[in-house]
Amino acid sequence: MANMPIPALKTTILPDAAPARIPVARPLLPDTASLTPYLTRIDEGRWYSNFGPLLTDLERRLTARLAKPAQLATVANGTLAITLALQALGCEPGDLCVIPAWTFTATAHAVRQAGLEPWLLDVDPDTWMLDPAAVVAALATAPGPVAAIVPVAAFGRMPDLDAWAKVARHTGVPVVVDGAAAFDALNRAPVPVTVSLHATKSVSTGEGGFIASDDADFIARFKALTTFGFEGDRYSRVTATNAKLSEYAAAVGLASLDAWSHTRTRLSFLAQQIRATLALTPQIGFQKGWGATWLSSVCVVATPDGRASQIAAALAQAGIDTRAWWGEGIHHQPAFEGALRTALPVTDRLAASTLGLPFYVDMPDTEIWRLVDALMSALKES
Ligand SMILES: *Cc1c(COP(=O)(O)O)cnc(C)c1O
Repeated sequence: MANMPIPALKTTILPDAAPARIPVARPLLPDTASLTPYLTRIDEGRWYSNFGPLLTDLERRLTARLAKPAQLATVANGTLAITLALQALGCEPGDLCVIPAWTFTATAHAVRQAGLEPWLLDVDPDTWMLDPAAVVAALATAPGPVAAIVPVAAFGRMPDLDAWAKVARHTGVPVVVDGAAAFDALNRAPVPVTVSLHATKSVSTGEGGFIASDDADFIARFKALTTFGFEGDRYSRVTATNAKLSEYAAAVGLASLDAWSHTRTRLSFLAQQIRATLALTPQIGFQKGWGATWLSSVCVVATPDGRASQIAAALAQAGIDTRAWWGEGIHHQPAFEGALRTALPVTDRLAASTLGLPFYVDMPDTEIWRLVDALMSALKES
C-alpha cells in the first residue's frame, strides 16, 4: 500500500474564454480627427444654426446625388420629416393616412402627429412593401376619407417611385415615401421621399433627416415648417415648429458623407460574403438586390415560416444578437392596437419569419463565420 503511486492530479483543461457576443449593430460615426476641420470652420465663422454654411454645404452635397430637378430640405429627424411632409401637403386633420402594418413604429407616430389616423394595410409578400395596385384597390373600400399614402422602403429597399407617382396622379391622393433607411437607394424623387440620418442608418448626423422632391414649392413649404413658418423673412405664415439641424449636426453629416464611399464599399463586401456563405442554404432568403444594387445599415433575412424566434433563441445561445427591427407590426404596438386595418396575414407571417442579423461596417470575418455556422445549425434543429 505504501508504494502505491499517488494518482496524478487531474488537470482541468479550462475552456477558451467564451468568444465575445456579436452585436446586431455597431454604429460607427466620424471620429474626432475627421470632425476637426469642420468644427474649426464653425469656430471661425461663429455661425451655429439657422441654415449656416455647413448645413448649406451638406444640403448641396446631398442634392448633388439626386437626378434633377430634385430639391431637398433637412430636418431634425426622419420621423418629423414624415409629419412635416404630411402637413406641407395640407392634409385635412382627422382624415386617414394609408401606411403598411409592416414598418417601424415611427411611421405610425408621424401620421398621428400630423393629425391623421393611420389605416394599416398589408404588404406584398415578395417586396415586403405596399403594392401600388393593391392600395388603389383598397382605396375603394376605405373606411373614411384618405388624405395621403405613406409607402415604406423596407429596410432600405426603394419602392417603385414611378408607380407611386402614377398612383398619386390617378387617384389624387398624395404619396410620401418613408425612405428612412434608403439613403443609398435614393437617387431621384418623382414623389417626396424622406430619409433618416439617425446614428443607426447609413449616413448620419447623429439625429437628423431630410426630404427630397422634384416639387420645389413643396420643398419650400416643408422648409418653412421646420423654421417657424418663415420663408426668407421673419413672418410666420403658417403654424409651424422648429426642426432645424445645427451646424454641429451638419459637421457630423459632412464627415459621415466623406466616409460614405468607403463605408459603402466595405458594407457591400460584407453583404456579398454573407450572401456567398449562405448561397447553399436556400432556407435563408435575402431582400432582392441587397448588397448588390443597394445597401442599408441592416441585414434582414427571411427564414422558414414561423421560425424566426426559434432561430433567434439558438443564435442568442451561441452569443449572437439579432433584432426584430419592426417587432410584430404596427397593430401589435399598444399605441396603435386600435388603428383601423385590413386583414394582415403577410405582415404577421413576415413578423414571425424575418430576422435582423448582425451587420456593421467593421464586422470581422471570424464573426461572419460564427454567424453562418450558428445559423446553419439552428436551421438543422427542428
Ligand atoms: C429609422 C426609421 C424611422 C425614424 O427615423 P428617425 O430619424 O429615427 O426619426 C422611420 N421609419 C423607418 C422605416 C425607419 O427605419
